[in-house]
Parts: sequence; structure tokens; C-alpha cells
Amino acid sequence: MSDKIILSAKDISKSYPQSGGDPLSILENINVDVKAGEIVALVGASGSGKSTLLHILGLLDAPTSGSLMINDKDVSCLSEKDRTLTRRNDIGFIYQFHHLLPEFSALENIVLPQMILGMEKKKAEERALTLLKRLRLDHRADNRPGKLSGGEQQRVAIARALANKPKLILADEPTGNLDPETAEEVFQLFMTVVRKTGVAALIATHNMDLAKRMDRVIEFS
Ligand code: ADP
Ligand code: MG
Repeated sequence: MSDKIILSAKDISKSYPQSGGDPLSILENINVDVKAGEIVALVGASGSGKSTLLHILGLLDAPTSGSLMINDKDVSCLSEKDRTLTRRNDIGFIYQFHHLLPEFSALENIVLPQMILGMEKKKAEERALTLLKRLRLDHRADNRPGKLSGGEQQRVAIARALANKPKLILADEPTGNLDPETAEEVFQLFMTVVRKTGVAALIATHNMDLAKRMDRVIEFS
């Protein structure tokens, strides 16, 4: 792990207005730092605000207040266009459900985000195949997601999140939809691959056993 702080969120709060009452507070003054190469677990009961926080940190939602730095850049007040660019360049997102494009192969699902950033097709395919190899899925490169098991789909989603060499990985219960045995297998591969890249990672989970195997645990009450 290096000392370089990749994600620095200060006093993040989120509330929703309610008709005829006080705003509904979901997050209150949350502070999170994640360093390069550090894998941090975000644990909390269902409804405690994990997904809300990850969406804010991934620039998919705006906080009610607070500031956010990603890779030394203040991303609190970016234009819509710059938010999109930061998301594409610096952040990899893994959801509980894979969200792969059903009409494209596993390989193409990892190639596309690279080509959106201007990567040449051949180079993008090479990188996609390297990532699939690391996730032990290169033999399924030409299969569409519908032909893959749940664990295999999540492994493709992990490869896709790493495709553009992000600085930060945000994962929202990435093994939450898998049976325990498959979850363990995917989790181990995930830890190995992410560790190898040196990316900063924040992973929401309600599984304390998995959380304890990460570098640090942030617990939501
Ligand atoms: P978790 O991921 O930890 O299960 P969430 O971040 O999904 O928690 O949700 C936290 C709380 O925020 C929940 O009580 C949820 O109902 C509430 N919430 C989420 N989105 C909205 C919204 N658009 N308006 C009002 N409440 C919301
Ligand atoms: Mg959630």
C-alpha cells in the first residue's frame, strides 16, 4: 500500500426533502479516505446508506453537503461533462447485478469502455483478454453474458471495471447475489486481481466475514 490518498471524502451528508416535514437524513458527516492499494470494506445493515454513499463517491449522485477529492482533484463541483469524464477515466464500478450488455460477448463488454476512451480496438482486445485471463475466464471470452453463470458474469463485470485502469474501484455488494461457495471464489479472485493493480478499492458488503479479510472496515450504524 502506498501513502497516496486516492479518495478523500469529507463531511458527506445526504438528505431527501419530504413533503410537509423535516428532510429525511440518510448520511450525516461521513468521512472516508482510501489510499492507493488499499481495500476497504464498507459494512452496515440494509438501508444504512451504503449504496447512497457509493453513488455519491462514484459521481452518480450529488451529496447535500460535503467535499470530495479523487486522485488530488476536487470533484465536488464539476460540470456534468467533467463528471462523466472523471467517472470513465478514474473510477470502476461493480454492482450487485452485473449490468453487462446482453447482446455483446464477455470480451466486447470489456473492450467497449476502452474504445469509448479512444483506445484502439486491437489494444483494447489485448487488455480485455489479459484481464479475462487473470479472472480465469479467457476460455469464455466469446460467450454472451446469458451463457455465463452468475459467478462468471460477476468476474466479467470485475474485468470491465478494471478495463480503463481506474484509480478507484467502488463495488456495491459484488458477491451479494451469489451462493456462498461462488461468492468465496469470486471474492478471492477479486482480491487478488485488485491487489495486483494497486488501485484503491471501497467495497460495500453486509458480510462481516468477507469484510474482515480486507485491509480495513468502515462500519455504518
Ligand atoms: P444500503 O445500500 O445500505 O442498503 P441505501 O443507500 O440503498 O442503503 O438506502 C439508504 C436509505 O435511503 C434507505 O432508507 C432508502 O429507503 C433511502 N433512500 C434511497 N433513495 C432515496 C430517495 N430517492 N428518496 C428517499 N429515500 C431514499
Ligand atoms: Mg445497497
